[in-house]
Amino acid sequence: MDDDDVSARKGSFRKFLEHLSGAGKAIGVLTSGGDAQGMNAAVRAVVRMGIYVGAKVYFIYEGYQGMVDGGSNIVEANWESVSSILQVGGTIIGSARCKAFRTREGRLKAAGNLVQRGITNLCVIGGDGSLTGANIFRKEWSGLLKELAENGDIDGEEVQKHAYLNVVGMVGSIDNDFCGTDMTIGTDSALHRIIEVVDAIMTTAQSHQRTFVLEVMGRHCGYLALVSALACGADWVFLPESPPEEGWQENMCIKLSENRARKKRLNIIIVAEGAIDTQNKPITSEQIKELVVTQLGYDTRVTILGHVQRGGTPSAFDRILASRMGVEAVVALLQATPETPACVVSLSGNQAVRLPLVECVHMTQDVQKAMDERRFKDAVRLRGRSFESNLNTYKRLAIKMPDDQIPKSNCNVAVINVGAPAAGMNAAVRSAVRVGISEGHKMFAIYDGFEGFAKGQIKEIGWADVGGWTGQGGSILGTKRTLPGKSLEAIAEQMRTHSINALLIIGGFETCDRIKQSASGTKRRVFIIETMGGYCGYLANMGALAAGADAAYIFEEPFDIRDLQANVEHLTEKMKTTIQRGLVLRNESCSEHYTTDFIYHLYSEEGKGVFDCRKNVLGHMQQGGAPSPFDRNFGTKISARAMQWLSTKLKEAQGKGKRFVTDDSICVLGISKRNLLFQPVAQLKKETDFEHRIPKEQWWLKLRPLMKILAKYKASYEVSDPGQLEHVHHRGHEEPAAI
Ligand code: ADP
Repeated sequence: MDDDDVSARKGSFRKFLEHLSGAGKAIGVLTSGGDAQGMNAAVRAVVRMGIYVGAKVYFIYEGYQGMVDGGSNIVEANWESVSSILQVGGTIIGSARCKAFRTREGRLKAAGNLVQRGITNLCVIGGDGSLTGANIFRKEWSGLLKELAENGDIDGEEVQKHAYLNVVGMVGSIDNDFCGTDMTIGTDSALHRIIEVVDAIMTTAQSHQRTFVLEVMGRHCGYLALVSALACGADWVFLPESPPEEGWQENMCIKLSENRARKKRLNIIIVAEGAIDTQNKPITSEQIKELVVTQLGYDTRVTILGHVQRGGTPSAFDRILASRMGVEAVVALLQATPETPACVVSLSGNQAVRLPLVECVHMTQDVQKAMDERRFKDAVRLRGRSFESNLNTYKRLAIKMPDDQIPKSNCNVAVINVGAPAAGMNAAVRSAVRVGISEGHKMFAIYDGFEGFAKGQIKEIGWADVGGWTGQGGSILGTKRTLPGKSLEAIAEQMRTHSINALLIIGGFETCDRIKQSASGTKRRVFIIETMGGYCGYLANMGALAAGADAAYIFEEPFDIRDLQANVEHLTEKMKTTIQRGLVLRNESCSEHYTTDFIYHLYSEEGKGVFDCRKNVLGHMQQGGAPSPFDRNFGTKISARAMQWLSTKLKEAQGKGKRFVTDDSICVLGISKRNLLFQPVAQLKKETDFEHRIPKEQWWLKLRPLMKILAKYKASYEVSDPGQLEHVHHRGHEEPAAI
């Protein structure tokens, strides 16, 4: 790597928030409505980003109730008040439902309490009810202030000074029931809880040949039910948005018995709490159990998950999501003018976006209205493109079309796993095989990567062969790191022998989920953790963000002895306060000489008398374990898309009598910004640093400063695409990227 390269990479961190100052401003942050994992990460980010830009930040305890009651419910926060809360579920500032805030009288009191402390910026973390309340409050603000002045509670000068209330919302809700945002804070963690239970239940159900009816939360929204059904390959799912067709009772029983006939020893049925039929009558778990028992005589059990879904530690995804949203919310507040409407910060694909709160709330209410009026197609459409695509994928993968309805393509398609095994690979293979079969192709599985391919380890694979694969870790097909280079001829021979028309290669995924840290206790201690990833610092960087690390050393952002010195000194200073715990992540290949041992010794020596150090090389544990819900679904969806793309290409080539190996016919499918994107390998070649096996430009690098800011460094942070408000319904028709 030459010097220009290094300075170009360092330079990309420079465009920033220099003009944004929070001096003289006060921000109030509250959590309201149902709690959700990850709310604390959002609170922490708001407090630290607020303090970073020079604003005062106030905790408002117990949601709107604390705002109405005032007094000790509204307290200024400092840097340390949010330390060690990132990994804690629920919300440390409390949440409540508040009747008083629904009345003007209550809101008048709340306004008085805010003005008293100079708070004119409000950051509300809650569901649609809480955000609706916030919007009403904002609209009434000037009227409330006028009334307070008339009552003699505040003077004219104060009315002037606090003339506008800025409101930014973050959606904290495990149900993912808010339109306009792909993922709400808490949803991913809730999915983790559900999948843990399903995996556990599956092992016992397997032994006893049972049917399990599992009820998950979601009174009005079937997201959790749908995505957990996708993630565990459930036999049947009941959602409020998409009730089963008339006669479902019989169809379901046929499906269950068909699956049993295919030697499946268990059935899983997932029911959303608010499941209904096409006449809007509730469908309950008990009812379903009764049906299975009377019609099929299967041993059937009901499990209602309940509050387990809100519990436990937030997932890495939720921590990162909430941290990004929290920082974005503060930026949005500081950039707000009197004309800016209340907005919601959210995520679209992997991009942070701002949307008008009112539009999101209306659209969310429209879904309910559509369900009430039995316009179920509209309900699904209004939920958004990623919901729709989840539903289509589920339907496609769960139920095999009758053979006579499947078109015949006369194409043979093979699937292969290459590179390191990664959680989610099996879900991807299952999805490719099933989509391939329903597109009419004959599907082949290749065992043991390119090495096996060259030796002829290839076999036809059927629909039932991949049943139950979604939840399995590693690679069932087997994978090898060997590149095809030397055995190209043998591979070509195999392709000819088996008349393979297309090849789907699944490999190279990396996940950040496995990084966990259990660093707490009474002694001051710094943990030095080495992560995998080759030269790619994604795991170290995202792990650092999710765990609230103090530093993360990665190859992409070169560092030298001065940086190390600055980090050690910074951490030593921090550890002299009430902060007990330090965390440093180091990507395995970030530097040839500054090894994990070196960094461990450096921190140990410099921290003497202040803290001691422990080191941990995470190693292959990171590739192990059962895949997370995100990886299962990501694997499933991306693979389904890839198969469809292959089918289109195969169709285009048919009848043309020529081979279609053009640049365009070899593609890599991945998420780019908000969309799923097929990129020809030839083009990717230009964008890839082959020596280090990483892309030249990595999207997540722009999140680096965020970690530093939240760890109390001076760093500049690039805001989302210049902080523009977007519209909910003008979001284009791209491929949905979110799970
Ligand atoms: P969620 O925010 O999770 O949807 P709720 O609907 O219970 O939960 O709302 C939480 C709180 O937000 C309510 O207890 C109330 O204080 C406030 N709130 C909800 N809707 C309104 C409204 N229309 N006007 C004023 N306040 C509201």
